[in-house]
Amino acid sequence: MMSSKPIVVITGSSRGIGAATALLFARNGYSICINYRSNKEAAVKVKQEAEALGASCITVKADVPEEEEVVRLFETVDEQLGRLNILINSASILKQQSRLEDLNADRINALLKTNVTSCFICSREAVKRMSTRHGGSVVNVSSIAATLGAPNEYTDYAASKGAIDTLTRGLAVEVAGEGIRVNAVRPGIIDTEIHADGGEPGRAQRLASVIPMQRGGTAEEVAEGIYWLASDASSYATGTIIDLTGGR
Ligand code: NAP
Repeated sequence: MMSSKPIVVITGSSRGIGAATALLFARNGYSICINYRSNKEAAVKVKQEAEALGASCITVKADVPEEEEVVRLFETVDEQLGRLNILINSASILKQQSRLEDLNADRINALLKTNVTSCFICSREAVKRMSTRHGGSVVNVSSIAATLGAPNEYTDYAASKGAIDTLTRGLAVEVAGEGIRVNAVRPGIIDTEIHADGGEPGRAQRLASVIPMQRGGTAEEVAEGIYWLASDASSYATGTIIDLTGGR
């Protein structure tokens, strides 16, 4: 099934922001690779919804901190869809809310490998495929936690997103002359299942009153920002980081 439509890989798109982004790309005529870690059922459901919108779609199970699995993911896209146009780095994890004094090296290293190393390796594979003539676009999903630090909750996660902001700016300049744009979004509190991983599924509801707009955001609202940065509509934006936080 080689595709003549533009091709997008979205890491972590079986659920949440990645899934909403996949469906927005589907509505706009892209061919999509839905990546997931373990939840095949959710990935297949997103695929079916994307196909109902007319998109060509594949699902690929790959654990993004594992280099060999990432290489295989991109080779599968080459073989089954064609040459990549867009990469969205959305897969990330959050661990149980803790103060820094309760963090250990195993937790910190696992989180950094999943949230940061993965983004470097996926971006490497994408940039290799986006020559000067072909061009391309990378959008990283950071977090406003990068600027707030997430005290008493998850400073390790916040620091991982600080690294994503730095990667965004560095890679953007590195490849700007090669027709490749690299940008990021920094969502605030978005109502997805990630908060259950932190031990507080109702976090978006609990914190609504401290958000100037008095509510958490939706995955669809973040997808709109990701899509704009990825598409030609933002053709002069690179190294740009857009905050989507309801004013927080
Ligand atoms: P989510 O609902 O928990 O979904 C996480 C997705 O990532 C799932 O598709 C999951 O796959 C996938 N994933 C996790 N680890 C993976 C791995 N090792 N390899 C491949 N896929 C993996 O999360 P979300 O809230 O949509 O978050 C998406 C992005 O937005 C993340 O980068 C997050 O840091 C960022 N963000 C979220 C918020 C928020 O409030 N929700 C705020 C700021 C930034 P499975 O289904 O197979 O588990």
